[in-house]
Amino acid sequence: MSVQVESVEPALNHSHRCDRCGSRAYVLAIIVWGKNDGELYFCAHHWNQHQEAIRPMLAALLDERHVLTRHIQDDGHFE
Ligand SMILES: [Zn+2]
Repeated sequence: MSVQVESVEPALNHSHRCDRCGSRAYVLAIIVWGKNDGELYFCAHHWNQHQEAIRPMLAALLDERHVLTRHIQDDGHFE
């Protein structure tokens, strides 16, 4: 008897691009800044670079960088 683990599709996909460089986004930061709120998409690289500045404004964070590892394993290359 095998246990089936349902795979949850990542919320971020190929159509989500880093706001800084246009690479595939793996982090979605929902920010509140004054009366405004907004969504910022980051690749792993730029999230690392900007997270210090973003965190104080952060309302919600979707971090799917773990998918990176899986993609490398799946197709042997980094997209
Ligand atoms: Zn980027």
